[in-house]
Amino acid sequence: METSLKNRVFNYIPPAMIAAVLLFWAYGPEELLANPWTMIIISPLIVVVILLLEQINERHAGWRMNRQEFVADLYYNVLGATLIAWLVKAMAEDPLLSIKASLGITTQWAAALPWLAQVMLVVTVHEFGQYWMHRLMHNWTPFWLTHAPHHHITQLNGSKGWVGNPIELFLISLSVIALFDLKDTAIFAAYSVTGVISTFAHANVRADPPIWYSFFFTTIRNHSLHHSTDYESTRCNYGNSLILLDRIFGTYREGEGILVGQDDRRRLSIWEQTVFPFQPLIDRYKARRASAGRAGDDQNGPAATA
Ligand SMILES: [Zn+2]
Ligand SMILES: [Zn+2]
Repeated sequence: METSLKNRVFNYIPPAMIAAVLLFWAYGPEELLANPWTMIIISPLIVVVILLLEQINERHAGWRMNRQEFVADLYYNVLGATLIAWLVKAMAEDPLLSIKASLGITTQWAAALPWLAQVMLVVTVHEFGQYWMHRLMHNWTPFWLTHAPHHHITQLNGSKGWVGNPIELFLISLSVIALFDLKDTAIFAAYSVTGVISTFAHANVRADPPIWYSFFFTTIRNHSLHHSTDYESTRCNYGNSLILLDRIFGTYREGEGILVGQDDRRRLSIWEQTVFPFQPLIDRYKARRASAGRAGDDQNGPAATA
């Protein structure tokens, strides 16, 4: 099948966007790089740009954004950037920094690395943690219950990366990067790069980057297979941005999914996603109450009619 010029151009947009964010953090205006608002704006900007690309070159009509999806996605993206980010800082990064300071740990060798090597270090360390956390979530029920809501989404688009149970969003954001002495711009560049890759990995954009990209980085092809409807097909391609880790650890699987969701593909509401990990406990409690009620009826019933 002949690839149209439009599709060929789109195939190069993901690597071009990675190059653009790297160039910005490496050579951008000093006052922008030092401004704490820059990173806060860049993360949602990446999502907005990719959502606009979905309007120009859609992958599947069934994944098209609608009002209901937009409202839910917006809620989760704001939750991720505010409450979850704050919890991760307060409950993980700050304690790590105090432990580092009290033990007198320094990683001056990391600060001495070339800038691009610092970026690659952050991407690798962060992705390594995410890979194993994600793999654990698919292999141990208590963790799966937190991750399953992300798999119940019934369509993919650029704002779906943050859709999931809040406990999962917290767990998947944990990282030991705070232990390393690194340039802020290198850390921001790394998170911008993984932001571009993982947003495209959920996006409804007809862009299939060349093999020199997809060998290392997760694409929508590999990640849509991970979102397939049958549980077994989800147990591959765990890399959030670095699919290379799946190739190394033997969990890589070639293929693409179109129909996404779990079980009967019923779409969960925000409330159902939030209480999902506790649903087995809630069900057990309700069943116990119902059987206690029936036992009470059995005891009272005959007496009342006697
Ligand atoms: Zn998963
Ligand atoms: Zn996903």
